[in-house]
Amino acid sequence: MKCGLVAADGAVVHRETRPTPRDAGGRAVLHALLETVVELEQKASAEGHRVRAVGVVVPGIIDAETGTVGAENLAWVGTPVLAELRAAVGPDQQVILAHDVRAGGYAEFRQGALRGTTNSLFLPLGTGIAAAMVVDGSLVSGDGYAGELGHTRFVHGDDAELCACGQRGCLETVASAAALARRYGVRSGKSVDGAREVLELLAAGDPDAKAVWDEALAVLVDALVLYTTLVAPTRIAIGGGLVGAGETLLAPLREGVHARLTFQREPEIVAAVLGEEAGCLGAALMAWDLVSGEQ
Ligand SMILES: [Zn+2]
Repeated sequence: MKCGLVAADGAVVHRETRPTPRDAGGRAVLHALLETVVELEQKASAEGHRVRAVGVVVPGIIDAETGTVGAENLAWVGTPVLAELRAAVGPDQQVILAHDVRAGGYAEFRQGALRGTTNSLFLPLGTGIAAAMVVDGSLVSGDGYAGELGHTRFVHGDDAELCACGQRGCLETVASAAALARRYGVRSGKSVDGAREVLELLAAGDPDAKAVWDEALAVLVDALVLYTTLVAPTRIAIGGGLVGAGETLLAPLREGVHARLTFQREPEIVAAVLGEEAGCLGAALMAWDLVSGEQ
């Protein structure tokens, strides 16, 4: 887990990365999170800072009403993360719990590739795919449920693979970094060490790499056209591991979207700029919003 201490002006005073004890189960992950928050507060105090609020962002579905989290990869099922956080930091501290991709999008919106927009989309293509949607100047939360573009169906018929979410043919089953590596393995019979290797094979002219890449691009164009038609973003920032492909990814997405649009407003399609730090920074920016809201 990535964590840090961030000043009111957004400057990162301290940052560190700690292991997430996934193999030890959901309880252990939660304990590690609480311990991290408490230790960072102690560190801040020891260095003469005063922590005004705590921002924590996690993957999965965060029920905004109850503060409980369901996250398959952390072995959390209805886990009362917000209540446990509040108990750990005490009644005087403000705490915000949010979704990691939404927080990353908020950081891009405030300080990164989406700065200055009022309607935009942050779409990281990583192990999974989720989205952060800025609509009419605000980040859309949907009580914690919004933005799951990765779990919208774009593949039909026999080719639709079962998704981790239980549905079939989701965007994520074809266009995430994990899907690219998995699908290349199935198609070619060769195992690869992640999407990065598929991209290297693509650059070297491997036909199986080109096939899975083209399929990913096709569903991504479908998803971006759908989003553009519904919400009319002026800018779309692609993030996550796959954006390391640069123009190999962005140029065909731009061309594909351009060719499909008729009446819709065409968005710019750019790379996100904050990288892996986006979620952590977004958590801090959301926490500072709590503080400024109370003044
Ligand atoms: Zn799904």
